[in-house]
Amino acid sequence: EWIDLAEVIEHSLKKVELNLKSKGLNLSVGIPASVPLVYADGLRMEQIYMNLLDNAIRYTEAGNIDVQVSTAEPDRVITVIEDSGIGIPAEELPYIFERFYRVEKSRSRERGGTGLGLAIVKKLVNIQGGSIQVSSSLGQGTRFEIVWFTGGSKYP
Ligand code: ATP
Ligand code: MG
Repeated sequence: EWIDLAEVIEHSLKKVELNLKSKGLNLSVGIPASVPLVYADGLRMEQIYMNLLDNAIRYTEAGNIDVQVSTAEPDRVITVIEDSGIGIPAEELPYIFERFYRVEKSRSRERGGTGLGLAIVKKLVNIQGGSIQVSSSLGQGTRFEIVWFTGGSKYP
């Protein structure tokens, strides 16, 4: 089906709104008025963004969650989810998409989780033709960027 990423992201944000508020985190969102559609599965898309938002909130104690959609590059839509959280040590960054991998040092015990979220995210992104990249700096925050291809037709 043809997916409007703005819709998926706004819907996902609505679902985590209470969570965000209860942690006192700030949210900034930048979504262009018209976003080219991408061909994908709506439920998978939502699973991807819910996982990334869940992480951003879970691993951020104070500050900001920033969600951006960019259509500046031709034939692609780039989405960015960035937080000002605890960050990921550079030496652990290569492993975070592996199943059951968790960054032990940078989590407190009450931060529950199985370490499957990002493995699922990566798989769902890849089977839908997208790619995902992460950059992070310890104590500063983490940024996930997903590139989707629009197939070149802006209004299918
Ligand atoms: P779950 O299966 O519930 O998602 P999880 O959040 O521990 O568990 P992943 O989402 O796969 O598992 O993330 C793997 C690890 O990467 C996390 O345990 C955490 O250490 C680190 N991580 C993921 N996202 C972030 C983030 N935004 N900021 C800091 N660390 C992160
Ligand atoms: Mg997770």
